[in-house]
Amino acid sequence: MKSFLDLLYPRRCMGCGVSSPETFRYVCWDCWSDAARVEPPFCALCGDPVAGAVDHDFICYSCSAETPAFDGARSAVRYDGVVGEALRQLKYEKALWLAPDMAKLLHNCVDAEYPGCTFDLLVPVPLHHVRRRTRGYNQSAILAHELGRRIGSPVASRLLKRIRPTATQTNLTAKQRLSNVVGAFQHGREKRLAGRRVLLVDDVMTTGATVNACAKTLKEGGAASVHVVTAARG
Ligand SMILES: [Zn+2]
Ligand SMILES: [Zn+2]
Repeated sequence: MKSFLDLLYPRRCMGCGVSSPETFRYVCWDCWSDAARVEPPFCALCGDPVAGAVDHDFICYSCSAETPAFDGARSAVRYDGVVGEALRQLKYEKALWLAPDMAKLLHNCVDAEYPGCTFDLLVPVPLHHVRRRTRGYNQSAILAHELGRRIGSPVASRLLKRIRPTATQTNLTAKQRLSNVVGAFQHGREKRLAGRRVLLVDDVMTTGATVNACAKTLKEGGAASVHVVTAARG
């Protein structure tokens, strides 16, 4: 079936159009190597990179000012270039065939940044049900399912709900983003959450306000730890 589909829809790199990409299915090696990885030095908690030669562990200013609810957050690449475009198409243009490539990014990031960690549950950042209905799918849930298959962890996509439709975070300041998500999430059955080590999955992380609100809700529900992984960092 797969090779039949390949005949019908020959795989071309979405960045440069070259056919038969190798490592990633829809992003060729050249385009992939152009993606800017999020590399150290970055904050030990939120994973936000800083410019400059810092050769010791450090916590950034905003994490020092207010400790985030998550135990760590890491992203594979910068929200830029071909990966930024792939994530945009996955989110807004129903380009679901890009999900395995993006999940591979997530998988590499989990292996590199959380070595030896076991996650009991993968939880995608939820969409409000109205937006989910309009879009037809939640791109973060699709990524979480692809990632879950790769790392062998179950996905719980109904354990966290967005109970308040929130304005899109895109054009908001950091402060507005924080208040935009206050009280926006609700956790489900505490029985499933109690004592669990959760990996929260999203496509893009910018200020971290959304994942922080999600992590706070999951911990209120009894989660033992909440780590965050996103494909890109805005
Ligand atoms: Zn390419
Ligand atoms: Zn930080």
